[in-house]
Amino acid sequence: MNLATHLRRNALRDPGGAALGFGTRVVSDWATMARDVAALAGGLLSSGLKPGDRVALVATNSPDYARALYAIWHAGLAAVPVNAKLHAKEIAYCIAHSESSLVLHSNDMAGPVGEAVGQIRAVEIGSGEWRRLAGSDPVDTAPAGADDLAWLFYTSGTTGRPKGAMLSHRNLLAMATSYFIDIDPPAPGAIVHAAPMSHGSGLYMLPMMAIGNAQVVPESGHFDPAELGALFARWPATTMFAAPTMIKRLVAHPGSADPGGLRTIVYGGAPMYVADLKAAIGLYGFRFAQLYGQGETPMTITGMTRATMETAYRAGDDAVLGSAGTPQSVVEVRLAEDGEVLVRGDSVMKGYWRDPAASARALAGGWLHTGDIGAFDARGFLTLKDRSKDVIISGGSNIYPREVEETLQAHPRVAEVSVIGVPDAEWGESVVAFVVARDGQLDAKELDALCLSSIARFKRPKEYRFVEALPKNAYGKILKTELRARMATEK
Ligand code: AMP
Repeated sequence: MNLATHLRRNALRDPGGAALGFGTRVVSDWATMARDVAALAGGLLSSGLKPGDRVALVATNSPDYARALYAIWHAGLAAVPVNAKLHAKEIAYCIAHSESSLVLHSNDMAGPVGEAVGQIRAVEIGSGEWRRLAGSDPVDTAPAGADDLAWLFYTSGTTGRPKGAMLSHRNLLAMATSYFIDIDPPAPGAIVHAAPMSHGSGLYMLPMMAIGNAQVVPESGHFDPAELGALFARWPATTMFAAPTMIKRLVAHPGSADPGGLRTIVYGGAPMYVADLKAAIGLYGFRFAQLYGQGETPMTITGMTRATMETAYRAGDDAVLGSAGTPQSVVEVRLAEDGEVLVRGDSVMKGYWRDPAASARALAGGWLHTGDIGAFDARGFLTLKDRSKDVIISGGSNIYPREVEETLQAHPRVAEVSVIGVPDAEWGESVVAFVVARDGQLDAKELDALCLSSIARFKRPKEYRFVEALPKNAYGKILKTELRARMATEK
């Protein structure tokens, strides 16, 4: 089944309903969006693209993002959403590696795309050429096999080159279905796309399309706490995806985003520390749900609903609050001997694009090897300890940086912290903490005392580095590889 089928269905059953919003305005109803998408799909096909061809989408958030994505599917093509925040060289890599036949890009991405495309045709969204495509004769939804490629999802790559996870129509339909069973029950409303539609927030378009909820893009196109209050007030029953760092920024600007009609903030993509979650719940109430997934099994490994979180919060059950929830309904989740999280089910990718060796490694034995280390408790809640490559082995014992980070994060003057292992002649590795202080000076002795009061002695950092900021990739994920490299060059 083609994912674009949902759009046509929405147009039939609720033609005048809000489909796309920009800021506080409705910019398209369902009937209009379906017509626009069918016309754009016609334009794509008449310009020579054939079923299965890849179309790269290098654009900042806008209502046209959703139109373009659905037009690609409607035409039976495969989308390659590329994060607009990537470096021009990385954008070029994704376009070339995916062998895209066409690049659709937003006006503000003309520079990097121009550098990247070479012989490949590029069309700027909103340009005369775009309008010509969008004004073509509409076509019917192309048939799509369940295993046909829908979304080539380039992983965030905190190490090495990004890899293209091949997500089929089946994978994404399973993902959309699971969302309503395991993360947040369906309700009429809207989603606000404050995170990139190429990645974190974009996947949420699918479940929202499946139930006919409006897709709303903030006028800034990104996450701006000052803008969100007006959107939460305007749009009923709003859902928003937020990475933990975004939630921290919301909490740091109390009052800037009145929750208004906000229904659910779903967080994921990185660990959320219990202290931060409690602060967020204190301010916004029981409006949080969580999911754990990765590009290779998008949005679908484990999850936690608002109701589960509320029960845990009221019971003071920090083990549940700090966990990533329980396995979602469309996947089996188990742990390998070393604790690596393994996943099998309809949402798991077919493999990596043009990389049979990496595909064979990632899908060995028919299970996706996530690279995350976790542990299940007796109730079936999965707690993530760390990426396997971030685990520190000191004196033969495993130290999970996340546990140390969680401890230090509880200090009121610690704004951000990242813990890594560095080679140590005596212990194999020793623990170093990079700390961003909230205001002014922080004393390493104070932090050491905090560690001694709550974790085993051998896990304490041997060294504290106080820094202005932590290095992050375009997705806001902390780059431990860079911290390790920094330490290595000093030695
Ligand atoms: P990406 O493929 O960019 O979405 O990154 C996926 C990775 O982010 C996972 O393999 C985890 O390491 C991490 N991650 C995703 N969701 C969560 C979560 N809810 N809690 C902790 N880490 C997460």
